[in-house]
Order: sequence, then C-alpha cells, then structure tokens
Amino acid sequence: MNSHAGPWNGANAVAQSEAPMIDPFGRAITYLRVSVTDRCDFRCTYCMAENMTFLPKKDLLTLEELERLCSAFIAKGVRKLRLTGGEPLVRKNIMHLVRGLGAHVHAGRLDELTLTTNGSQLARHAAELADCGVRRINVSLDTLDAEKFRTITRWGELSKVMEGIDAAQAAGLRIKINAVALKDFNDREIPDLMRWAHGRGMDLTLIETMPMGEIEEDRTDRYLPLSQMRARLAEEFTLTENAYRTGGPARYVTVEETGGRLGFITPMTHNFCESCNRVRLTCTGTLYMCLGQNDAADLRLPLRASEDDALLSQAIDEAIGRKPKGHDFIIDRRNRPAVARHMSVTGG
Ligand code: SAM
Repeated sequence: MNSHAGPWNGANAVAQSEAPMIDPFGRAITYLRVSVTDRCDFRCTYCMAENMTFLPKKDLLTLEELERLCSAFIAKGVRKLRLTGGEPLVRKNIMHLVRGLGAHVHAGRLDELTLTTNGSQLARHAAELADCGVRRINVSLDTLDAEKFRTITRWGELSKVMEGIDAAQAAGLRIKINAVALKDFNDREIPDLMRWAHGRGMDLTLIETMPMGEIEEDRTDRYLPLSQMRARLAEEFTLTENAYRTGGPARYVTVEETGGRLGFITPMTHNFCESCNRVRLTCTGTLYMCLGQNDAADLRLPLRASEDDALLSQAIDEAIGRKPKGHDFIIDRRNRPAVARHMSVTGG
C-alpha cells in the first residue's frame, strides 16, 4: 500500500539514469544518511550539551524538499538511505517522508530504507515503518539499567524504549542495538547487554566515542578504545571473524556462546575511511562529505533555485568531487573537539 503522492510519483518519477557518484579516491557513493531534525527528546551526555540551541524551524527544509533531495541522490546511484537526527521520530509528520521514500524501496530503486532511533517514539510508529518498507532499524541503547539510562540520556525513560523495541519486533522489524562504549559507565555491562540483545535475536554494535561538539564533560574520561573492549570480551567469549556487512562501517564477529553477531565501529582506533561509501545530508540541506571534517556543500540554494534538478545535480557532483580521503579524529585533553558540530547535526 502506498497512499503517498510524492514528487516522483507520476510525471517526475526518478530513474537511475544519471552517472554514478564516484569520489576523487574512486569510491562509489551509494549510501545517504539524512538528519531530518537536529532536535532530540534525549540529551545523551556524550552527544549534546544540556542546553542546546537548536535551529529555528524556518531554517529547516520541508519534508517535501527533503524527499526531492533524497530522490535526486537516488537518481544518482544511492541504494541505501538512513534517516537519523537528532531523533528522527520527533520530527512532525515524519511518516510522510518515510512513506514517500518507501515508494523507492517498493519500486526497486532503493535497496534499503532504514533509520537510527533512540526508540522513545518507536511504539507509536513501528507498525507504520514496517508498512512503509522499512525492514531493519538501529536502536541506540547504552545500558539496561533504568537509573543509568536516565543519567546518560538526562531525560530518557528506559521502559519507553523497551516498549518501542517490543513493538518493532512485533511488527517484524529487524533490530540492531548500537551502544557507545563508555569507560566506567557501561563497559562492565557490555557482556550482559550483548547476551540480552542476542537472546532477543538482535545484533549489538559497539561504537567508540568521537570528539564532536562541545559537551559539559571531557570525552577523554569516558573514551574506551574498542580494541581493549574486544580483548576483554575475548577472555569470556569465543569471537569468530565474520564477513557480514551492512554497507556501514561496522566490522562483525560471531559470538559462539550466544550465536549472535557483535559489531565494532572504530572511528578512533581503526579508521575505516578507505571503504567509505557515504555522505550526510542535514535538515537544512547541507551536505557533509565526511562525518569528521568541516567542509560542506549547500544544496538548499540549488534545490530552491529551480524546479528541475539540473542545478542540484551539478551541486551534488561538485560536492562529491571534494569528498576528503578521511577523518583524522584525535581525542585527548589538549585538543578541542575535531569538529565543532555535535553528532546530532549529522546523526549516526
Ligand atoms: N536519536 C537517534 C539515536 O539516538 O539513535 C539518532 C541520532 S544519534 C546522534 C545517533 C548515534 O550517535 C547514537 O547511537 C548515539 O549514541 C551516537 N553518538 C552521539 N554522539 C556521539 C559521539 N560523540 N561519539 C560516538 N557516537 C555518538
């Protein structure tokens, strides 16, 4: 079922007719992440400051404009699209966009439409997400302890996230749990988190904390190299290398004792830029060609300058032509964050 009448349904339907996007290092860009809002109903301490200044609503692209931008990327060879934020499910009427993008999945123009969510609003939306063509989602969850959950998210309620996970599984969505590994916060709990996730048929991926945006604390205090975490886990579990890939940066092992998959996203200890296939669009139409660099391209101007996509397509090509080789995150006490923007601007 698709009741959506988006800009590509009918006369303007997109075909994947344009030349593929290849960056200066020969990498094909096939994966677009779209931050649909910079706002979030949580304030995870490693992600945001408590008092954040968010974008004025008037600066946001409309959902129709975001659809048009996404369809331009799909026409240029994007096969996987992830909605993120901020919290994507707090953007008003977000399901209109999901339904519109889902039409690309149903038509075979997109291999995957997915999203990264904190799960707080998932119970309300899970069934509709599945109906729109979403098959798999990432839920960010750093602890199973309700009090610790409240501490790390500042405002979050674990029970709501659990309801969201239940609803998503009931709707047939596959879930990957993403946890940022934080020294002296959740490191000792990771084995339990993993057993729980695997016990429910969910993959678990661990992420290293990245130096993005000023926060109240010093990230160095919480930074935990995943090489250490992996070595600790290997004392308790049998970790077997696994060739499984989702098109993202995670590298997986199978945990023989649980039968589940454990992923590692290691932007700090092992830079995975050589296989980067991604670019990131913000809710204002700014395109970041690398999560860890400041260079960006404004796509709002060419988007609004004309009704056909020629200018937009040209601006995208120019931006891809500037995609850098990679990031050079450094996390230590002497350095300011590598990039000034918070992760909530571009999303995970
Ligand atoms: N609100 C959604 C969520 O919670 O999944 C999507 C946006 S959130 C910014 C995406 C992911 O980025 C979350 O898994 C979060 O834990 C992670 N994240 C936020 N700040 C980070 C940082 N500085 N380093 C590493 N991961 C971070």
